[in-house]
Amino acid sequence: MISFWEQQSFLRSDIVIIGGGILGLSVACSIKEHDSKSSVTVLERGVLPTGASTKNAGFACFGSLTELLADERTLGKEKMLSLVEKRWKGLQKLRARLGDDAIDFRQHGGYELLTESELFALGHLERMNAVLFPVFNENIFSLADEKIETFGFASGTVRSLVFTSLEGQIDTGKMILALMQKAQSLGVMIFTGANVTAIHPHNDSVDIEIDSAEKKILMNAHRVGICTNAFLSDLLPAMNVVPGRGQIVATKPISGLKFRGTFHFDHGFYYFRDFNNRIIFGGGRNQDFDAEATSEFAPNEKILFDLKKKLSEVILPHTPFEIEMSWQGIMGFGESKIPFIKEVHPNLFAALGCNGMGIALSSLLGEELAERILQ
Ligand SMILES: Cc1cc2nc3c(=O)[nH]c(=O)nc-3n(C[C@H](O)[C@H](O)[C@H](O)COP(=O)(O)OP(=O)(O)OC[C@H]3O[C@@H](n4cnc5c(N)ncnc54)[C@H](O)[C@@H]3O)c2cc1C
Repeated sequence: MISFWEQQSFLRSDIVIIGGGILGLSVACSIKEHDSKSSVTVLERGVLPTGASTKNAGFACFGSLTELLADERTLGKEKMLSLVEKRWKGLQKLRARLGDDAIDFRQHGGYELLTESELFALGHLERMNAVLFPVFNENIFSLADEKIETFGFASGTVRSLVFTSLEGQIDTGKMILALMQKAQSLGVMIFTGANVTAIHPHNDSVDIEIDSAEKKILMNAHRVGICTNAFLSDLLPAMNVVPGRGQIVATKPISGLKFRGTFHFDHGFYYFRDFNNRIIFGGGRNQDFDAEATSEFAPNEKILFDLKKKLSEVILPHTPFEIEMSWQGIMGFGESKIPFIKEVHPNLFAALGCNGMGIALSSLLGEELAERILQ
C-alpha cells in the first residue's frame, strides 16, 4: 500500500514525461530550463532506458548523400531541407547543453560508401551541395575515392566514397548519462522501473497508472508528455507507429585499424564507425523487413550473419577480426520521416519521429514539446 508520505511527496507532479530516452530526458531539461518552479518527473519502465537511446551507434549525423536524395524524392525539396536543418540545429543544441567532453563528441567526419548501383548519386553531388548551402554555409559533400584503398575497403565493391567533414560521433552511453545528470541537476525526478500501463486525462489533470513492485500505483500530473517512441501505441492505440528493430555488432579491438569516422552504405541501411580501435557495425533491416518490424529485443541470425559477411568481405577484407558482442535496439517509425507533436487532449501530448536520427533530432523536438506542454 502507498504511504501517506509517498502520496504527499512522490505521486503528484506538475508535469510527467513518460519515457526516459533521449527525447523524454531532453523534454524534461527544456521544461526546467524554461520554468524552474514546475515539478517534473520522468517515468521510465526499464532500469536503464529500454528502447533506442542507449542502444544506438552514436552517429551525430544529418543524412548521407543517397539518403537525402531519397528524402528529396519522397518528401520534396523544402521538407527535406527543413528536416536537415532540424537535425543540424538539434545536434548543436545537444552539444551546447551537455558539452563535447561529456558526450565524447569527435568530429572525424563521415563517409558514404557507394556501390555500382549507387554511382548515379554522384551526378547529384554538386546540386545537393547547392541545395544544402543555406543550412551549412558551405559545400558539405566531396569525393574521397583515394581513401578506398587507404582505408582497406574492398575496391571491387566500394566504387566511390563521398565525404562530409561536418559529421561526428559520440559515446552514446556517456551522452545518456550526462543527460540524466543534467536533468537531475535541474531538479527533474527520474523514476526507473515505472511501467506506465494507462493514462486517463481529465479537465484539469491526468491520472497515470504505473505497474511497479508495489502492484499498481496511481500518479497525477497537471500535464503529461509521452515520449515512448516505438511503444507509443501501447498507450495510445490510435497512433500508428511501426517498430523497427536494429541489430548491432561490435568487434574486439583491431590492431592497425586503418580508418576512423562514421560510415554509411546502402542508403543508410548499414552504418559503421570506429570506437577505440573497435568497429561498431549495424543495420541490415532491409534484409528482413518483416521480421524486424517488431518491438521484441532478440537477435536476428540472418542479419547478424549478413553483418559479419559484410565486415569480412567489404569493410575489413584484409584484416582479421573477432566479434565481441551484439545487441538490438528498437526504433519507432511514424507515417512520415517528419517529427511531430500530437495534442491528444489539452493536458496530454505525444511526440514522435526521431526515426534513426534521434541524436540529432531529440533536443530540438524536445524543446518544441516542452513549449507546447508549458503553453
Ligand atoms: C540500432 C540502432 C542504431 C541507431 N543509431 C543511431 C545513430 O547512430 N544516430 C542517431 O541519431 N540515431 C540512431 N538511432 C536512433 C536513435 O537511437 C533514436 O532515434 C532515439 O534514441 C529515439 O529516442 P527516444 O527517446 O524517442 O526513444 P527511446 O530511446 O526508444 O525511448 C523511449 C523510452 O520509453 C520507455 N517506455 C516505453 N514504454 C513505456 C511505458 N509504458 N512506461 C514507461 N516507459 C516506457 C522505453 O523503455 C524507452 O526507454 C539508432 C537506433 C537504433 C535502434
